[in-house]
Amino acid sequence: APRSSAELIQAEGPVLAHNYHPLPVVVARAEGVWVEDVEGRRYLDMLAGYSALNFGHRHPALIDAAHRQLDQLTLTSRAFHNDRLAGFAEALAGLTGLDMVLPMNTGAEAVESGIKVARKWAYDVKGVPADRATIVVAGGNFHGRTTTIVGFSDDEEARAGFGPFAPGFRTVPYNDLAALEAAVDETTAAVLIEPIQGEAGVLIPDDGYLTGVRELTRRAGCLFIADEIQSGLGRTGTTLAVEHESVVPDVLLLGKALGGGIVPVSAVVARREVLGVLGPGQHGSTFGGNPLAAAVGSAVIELLATGEFQRRAAELGERLRTGLAALTGKGVTGFRSRGLWAGVDVDPALGTGREISERLMKEGVLVKDTHGSTIRLAPPLTITADELDAALGSLARVLI
Ligand code: PLP
Repeated sequence: APRSSAELIQAEGPVLAHNYHPLPVVVARAEGVWVEDVEGRRYLDMLAGYSALNFGHRHPALIDAAHRQLDQLTLTSRAFHNDRLAGFAEALAGLTGLDMVLPMNTGAEAVESGIKVARKWAYDVKGVPADRATIVVAGGNFHGRTTTIVGFSDDEEARAGFGPFAPGFRTVPYNDLAALEAAVDETTAAVLIEPIQGEAGVLIPDDGYLTGVRELTRRAGCLFIADEIQSGLGRTGTTLAVEHESVVPDVLLLGKALGGGIVPVSAVVARREVLGVLGPGQHGSTFGGNPLAAAVGSAVIELLATGEFQRRAAELGERLRTGLAALTGKGVTGFRSRGLWAGVDVDPALGTGREISERLMKEGVLVKDTHGSTIRLAPPLTITADELDAALGSLARVLI
């Protein structure tokens, strides 16, 4: 007999690493903004796979692209060419206004690859002495889970017990141009930042910060790497979050939504002088740039090329902001939002972020807490105004 949600949750305990603390919901089916559990209960998905599901679950155009590709070719490795990769790279370069693409799979891999490319560029082009390159990062960052990446995180939970860590990183406070200026020197290969810090609680820097980072890195002769793995691809009301300040980084890291919620697809996208430093044998990935990923990624870019999702995120983002403003003082102590992405601070007296998330789950709304009493809202960009209002109504009800 099929196992119940409770049985499946219990069955995971002894056989699955405990590196997550999921909400007690077992999802079995999904369409658009709705997911359904094993027992057939429906929930509004207000997390959207940490923004990997910007187009909703199983968007018909993406599923169709995946199906068609499954019937043709799924994997070649980069030992051979495949007939989907050139088109994907052209489309992604076109979407971002940059020149070259290095296809990878997960976000952390894109970050690692960006770090390697920046260091190689520093030695080959900038002339930094061997093994001396530094990369400046921001406090509160989240760039993934590899040993190098957690090594330059300041989240003790993410780091403790995983050292020794790779050297070569300097941390400065986020949203502080003076501190950044002081940390950059002739060894600096790159400044790596999130244009909006997602995991930190959707922290939006002051207007002018991204412009300042762009000017400072240009003056200092180092690269500006923007990690848009969570902020990019429509979420904030523009294709990229850096567009809010009309800033073009040297290196762009993309992931999550690039795979349409179907396959892991990430990429380093950069100017030719930068990505051009890589030669054969110096970097690679068995699955990076596989034809299934390229087909789905190309379909994602076609959806974004319409501008419809960015427009929806911007318009509904105003509605989200208005709704959260109305809840401020009524259980919400503060919030930050851009497009369909918000970090909502809940009065700790009403419960932890986790407790609020559990109450929302009982209301049929799925969210994820970040730190302490902050919950993050990031629904699929396909959500309707009525569905968004319903989610805000549920939030209001659990905050009493
Ligand atoms: N960079 C940012 C800004 C992220 O938000 C994330 C994931 O949350 C990552 C990198 C890591 O991506 P992945 O989990 O696919 O390795």
